[in-house]
Amino acid sequence: MKSKIKNRLHIKSLIAGIILGVMLFSTTTVVLAATYQAKTATFPIYINGEEWQTDSLIAVIDGRTYLPLRALGDVLSVDVDWNEKLFRVEIDKPEEIYVITEQGGKYHRTNCPTIKLVKEYLAKDKAENLGYEPCGLCQPK
Ligand SMILES: [Zn+2]
Repeated sequence: MKSKIKNRLHIKSLIAGIILGVMLFSTTTVVLAATYQAKTATFPIYINGEEWQTDSLIAVIDGRTYLPLRALGDVLSVDVDWNEKLFRVEIDKPEEIYVITEQGGKYHRTNCPTIKLVKEYLAKDKAENLGYEPCGLCQPK
């Protein structure tokens, strides 16, 4: 009789131990974190041959250069916005990059069949500001 009670207690404590173990295991959060050392970039960044001036922090981590997303958007002429309602970053890429060729005078879509030698890739507004006109064949909008 005493051994049956002892066995029941033993089984109860075993079950309690298993439940406690499962609870501990299931509520434990595993955090995998790496530590990186960021340094401020000591080198300039050039855009189309001109040194880029910015107040943004340019960081170097493990030999790679990091810019804040908004600053990167400014460099690449891409709109970067924060959507507070949706709590996300939204990036609007320009629709097309236009090609200036060695023949000069015109700007083209990248797939224009008249392109033989690419001189430069520009945004449309930049091409127009430099006096280039749209190609009559590929008709970039
Ligand atoms: Zn064209």
